[in-house]
Amino acid sequence: MRIIPFQHGLGALDYAVPAGMVLAAGDAVEVPLGPRRIIGVVWDAERLAAPDVPAARLRPVIARLDLPPLAEPLRRLIDWTADYYVAPLQSVVRMAWPSVAFLSPREFTEYRLGGPLPKRLTPERAQALEKLEGRQGTARDLARMAGVSDAVIRGLVGAGTLIAEKVSGDASPPVPDPDFAPPALSAEQRDVADELIAAVSAGQFAPMLLEGVTGSGKTEVYFEAVAEAIRVQGQALVMVPEIALTAPWLARFAARFGCQPLAWHSDLKTSERRAAWAAIADGRARVVVGARSALFLPYANLKTIIVDEAHEASFKQEEGVHYHARDVAVMRGRMEALPVVLATATPAIETQVLASRGTYRHLHLPGRFGGAELPDVQLVDMTRHPPARGQFLSPLVVAALDQTLAKGEQSLLFLNRRGYAPLTLCRTCGHRIQCPNCTAWMVEHRLSRRLACHHCGHQMPVPDACPECGAADSLAACGPGVERIGEEVRRLFPAARTAIVTSDTITSPARAAALVQAVAAGAVDIIIGTQMVTKGYHFPDLTLVGIVDADLGLSGGDLRAGERCWQQIVQASGRAGRGEKPGRVLIQTHQPGAALMQALAKGDADGFFAAEIAARRDLGLPPFGRLAALVISSEDAAAAKAAADTLGDAAPRADGLMVLGPAPAPLAMLRGRHRHRLLVQARRDLPLPAILRGWLAGVALPSSVRVVVDVDPYSF
Ligand code: ADP
Ligand code: ZN
Repeated sequence: MRIIPFQHGLGALDYAVPAGMVLAAGDAVEVPLGPRRIIGVVWDAERLAAPDVPAARLRPVIARLDLPPLAEPLRRLIDWTADYYVAPLQSVVRMAWPSVAFLSPREFTEYRLGGPLPKRLTPERAQALEKLEGRQGTARDLARMAGVSDAVIRGLVGAGTLIAEKVSGDASPPVPDPDFAPPALSAEQRDVADELIAAVSAGQFAPMLLEGVTGSGKTEVYFEAVAEAIRVQGQALVMVPEIALTAPWLARFAARFGCQPLAWHSDLKTSERRAAWAAIADGRARVVVGARSALFLPYANLKTIIVDEAHEASFKQEEGVHYHARDVAVMRGRMEALPVVLATATPAIETQVLASRGTYRHLHLPGRFGGAELPDVQLVDMTRHPPARGQFLSPLVVAALDQTLAKGEQSLLFLNRRGYAPLTLCRTCGHRIQCPNCTAWMVEHRLSRRLACHHCGHQMPVPDACPECGAADSLAACGPGVERIGEEVRRLFPAARTAIVTSDTITSPARAAALVQAVAAGAVDIIIGTQMVTKGYHFPDLTLVGIVDADLGLSGGDLRAGERCWQQIVQASGRAGRGEKPGRVLIQTHQPGAALMQALAKGDADGFFAAEIAARRDLGLPPFGRLAALVISSEDAAAAKAAADTLGDAAPRADGLMVLGPAPAPLAMLRGRHRHRLLVQARRDLPLPAILRGWLAGVALPSSVRVVVDVDPYSF
């Protein structure tokens, strides 16, 4: 019998089944490995990984664990994912069965403050006492919450300051009521909702693109598919790009269904995580909302998957197993015979092409609900209407902000750049402050008075003098980030109330909820935000959107740049005029003649995408051809280069296959590792995973070198 061990770095292992034990594929088992006992999952009850090993030499399984087995469709999905993305099977299995799956509710103790203060009060202990007021969790949870080591927590347990609490077992999540507050849908919405409902009750694989501008009612409509899944006694999974931003969505869900769904995210405490996992695996959790990590969980009775904002880049996982949750969601729908709904106002090119071929059913929601009009879009030619010296907003945008303020309405300035300035330069010697670990400039964050690397997180105080030449008062901030635009706005409109919305300021669901509340209560006049503001917020009094630097997304030469830039600007524009008042969008650009800008001004999505799709077709790029990237990295520059060359020399040759590189990767150094990249472009009919696997298996590289395979890379 072949099992997949959970231990990292082990391949499939073979065991014998002791007499009297009945085991089937998908069962969790405990097995001996050397002197240890480890946990694994039965992958094939009949076959062996190494069929030559005599049966007599196999050691027996110790025990079958009391866990719901991994069902066959999910095992096939895991097999497919490991194969397609050239990833270890075991890494994919762990996404379905995270370590909490193996805890029984009795196996962990939670603690809370409640005993006498410790006699010795170190700074760490004082910090823990302050941070843990009113909190409860396992020792590991509390260490994370307080930002101290496990040892500090154990010390406080030993001192009797933290006392043990009973954990309340696996409480069932509330069951959403499909008929709690159904909406009165418009005729068009009703038609689409009926299609979704029919697909859910049919119980067949049906991939669907639900396309409609922001505000057309996509959420309202896919809620009907969720309601149907509940009615047929099943489960629904709604995948969202970022769980931290779901507060408004959760509130809407509760208004529609009478209670909150189960949220699966990395901030759950161990006991909550374990309870959530158990409720998902035995079917008590009826509706689950989560980011991509919710996709592989072992739902007992899944009836539909919704991928909300399906165009979002965050569905592409860029660490561990490199997979695209949007695509794996569709594959899960195929394996489990259920409809998968990709909801978006700006579908990715891959999705558009599949819809136009009829592979995906294409459902449209025309126009905005209640007749709200789409905003009026206008280009601001920055060469003709330049900002005042040292500023970044064109006089046209400043005038529009002024008018909007005068009307008591709200504005949004969009710039996809966190911090104050993307580059700090010495005016005396020209030195640019760079991250010591990455090929990237340090970004000034004036709110926190630090320079930060947005790639590795490295931080330093803003120096008083140039670190290179020592000149005092010579460092200059170059270019704008949202904080700098905020400063400009406050200088121009001292009475206006502003809010900066980035991942630096919206760090928790609670903060996201507070922002929504402040904006809804009219306590904010001008929002200045990164792409974070484009994620599903609905601000009815927001009537002006200014795109501060539309050209930003166009640079870089990435072939997805045009598509991404379009999506960002359209999503940001979609925040304007969602209520009764019409909206207006001003796009600052230095290239008003560029095809993208012209298409934005005319609202000509079809024309823009027809050209983009034609270009992809001509170049054989996805979805017309396939692409994979191999990123070779090492802390040792020479070793990384040598390994990349070795792999390059061993590159496979085949008709319809092209290997480009090796060349320095787009971030040539990242977190202290030197990186080179090979790009593989293949015709669709070639067996790309097998080709990649054969290639890698034929090359021996030193252990200091890491090779990451990225199939369908997001940036290329
Ligand atoms: P989308 O998901 O396409 O951006 P939403 O579902 O968020 O659109 O709808 C936009 C706004 O219109 C929301 O405030 C929503 O509550 C409202 N809305 C949409 N359809 C209806 C409806 N049939 N009845 C009442 N309100 C609706
Ligand atoms: Zn860095």
